[in-house]
Amino acid sequence: MRKVYSSQDVNLVHFARSVLEAHQIDSVILREQLAGAVGGLAPLDTWPELWVHDADELEQARLLIAAAMTMSETQQTAWICHACGEKIEPQFTQCWQCDTEQVMTAS
Ligand SMILES: [Zn+2]
Repeated sequence: MRKVYSSQDVNLVHFARSVLEAHQIDSVILREQLAGAVGGLAPLDTWPELWVHDADELEQARLLIAAAMTMSETQQTAWICHACGEKIEPQFTQCWQCDTEQVMTAS
């Protein structure tokens, strides 16, 4: 097994695991109980960890998680429709004024 992700926030570790599950990558969360014991936020040496079973999948797993994390951060901020210039709230992926799809720009 290889460690692919670790975070102080157990919810993020679960999120990362769900990303891998969606791509049929087997993974397991370790040290989750330690994190839960202190209310979800753990000190550095007891952070919950996400491990993949197959070392061959490690690189793909890392990329998938990194991409998903970036996307979820992107969706926290309002975006500007490139077609009509309207400011759109982050929960929408389509312009409410002209129906243009949000364009994910690499930052
Ligand atoms: Zn628009």
